[in-house]
Amino acid sequence: MKDEALQAIYDAILRRDPGEDEFHQAVSEVLDSIAVVLRERPELADERLIERLCEPERQLVFRVAWEDDEGAVQVNRGFRVEFNGALGPYKGGLRFHRTVKLGTMKFLGFEQTFKNAITGLGIGGAKGGSDFDPRGRSDREIMRFCQAFMTELYRHLGEHTDVPAGDIGVGARELGYLFGQYKRITNRYEAGVLTGKGIGWGGSHVRKEATGYGLVYFVREMLARRGEGLEGKKCVLSGSGNVALYAIEKLHSLGAKVVACSDSDGTVHDRDGIDLALLKQIKEVERGRVRDYAERRGAEYLEGQRPWAIRGHIALPCATQNELDVDDVAKLVENGCKVVAEGANMPVTPRAIDLLHEEQVDFGPGKAANAGGVATSALEMQQNARREVWTFGDTEAHLAQIMKDIHATCAKTAEAFGAPDDYVLGANAAGFIRVAETMRALGVV
Ligand code: NDP
Repeated sequence: MKDEALQAIYDAILRRDPGEDEFHQAVSEVLDSIAVVLRERPELADERLIERLCEPERQLVFRVAWEDDEGAVQVNRGFRVEFNGALGPYKGGLRFHRTVKLGTMKFLGFEQTFKNAITGLGIGGAKGGSDFDPRGRSDREIMRFCQAFMTELYRHLGEHTDVPAGDIGVGARELGYLFGQYKRITNRYEAGVLTGKGIGWGGSHVRKEATGYGLVYFVREMLARRGEGLEGKKCVLSGSGNVALYAIEKLHSLGAKVVACSDSDGTVHDRDGIDLALLKQIKEVERGRVRDYAERRGAEYLEGQRPWAIRGHIALPCATQNELDVDDVAKLVENGCKVVAEGANMPVTPRAIDLLHEEQVDFGPGKAANAGGVATSALEMQQNARREVWTFGDTEAHLAQIMKDIHATCAKTAEAFGAPDDYVLGANAAGFIRVAETMRALGVV
């Protein structure tokens, strides 16, 4: 880090929170970006604002004990990190995955704070989840786990306090069980306490599709700046979950062709273009693997591999953090890739981002490119508060406009700080300025 004061803050975080590598990585990227902002706006670092920004307002860690189908007691760990509430109620998803630990939650909550800020909406940043592994668990076990999780978490939530949503391993089914338990314990039908709900019980149209669709809208804006469109573009993406499926849907509807996607076991390479109806049937209905897709479709299956060696003009990592490194960038560049945008949170490593910039590949960071999900969650909160249900078309039009605005904000901010092609700088600086100005207005808290 070039700025000494920021380096000292970062060193203190390393000492205080050892072992939280992902959190360190996220903080380091933001501090690197805001050095140029602080040169022009030094008052934004007054009263230890940066130290306060890097320290979560509240971190909850709790035991989740539940019974499996054999009657054996299982013990998991639950988390909720309420990172920053300057701009509104804490907002951010819940992740159920065996790798979840406090550092993961802190990195995601920190990122979420800036992401939510650049949507321009009134939402603070948070993240939560558990090291519970839903894979191989029955429906009943998922329900009992969700009920046990919410039995602790409910006391920290509220439509004006903290509003979780889904993330890896938490989709409509889990949100249903979580909401059911919240309602039972509180005796309140408080729709605005969770987002990502089913359409019949307070959910918003387009929420399910929003992160994937929003990502594609963002990419469309990136391409437009180069004087290009999506029509005829070949794309490779990772993951085959919520974000990936709906990114594929929107890419296909706008004339692009997705030839690869993956899960944690391997990658499918379908030269004719992914058959989305079949993939959705396997992933959303049968809860199967991309290996099953490859078998049924007669497509190539690459066991244990990620999709980055496959030729494509656009690459969209939509699975998990640090899944695309420098070697992968080298392959992508060799294969003519011109645009990389993050559907997942922090999937591209810092060294890989540097290389993308060096190679003049346009790079859209997740804070901006995948903000469509949380933005539509905020639209869901608006509908809940007004007891309204907007149409699919109206909601999607809102989302498309928000993504256009986010892109414009990032591009304009990057330009203002002398690096017009650096969306990382644009997103971090724009998010930081909004949160920091608000924190100053709210006093030392
Ligand atoms: P899902 O659980 O629906 O899907 C995740 C996908 O990524 C699955 O295909 C999964 O494969 C794969 N995956 C997960 N962990 C790993 C891993 N360690 N290695 C390889 N593949 C992995 O999650 P989402 O689609 O909702 O989320 C994906 C990413 O997008 C996450 O980073 C999330 O934080 C981010 N995001 C999601 C938003 C949303 O609205 N859903 C909003 C903004 C960001 P497998 O089935 O084998 O585990």
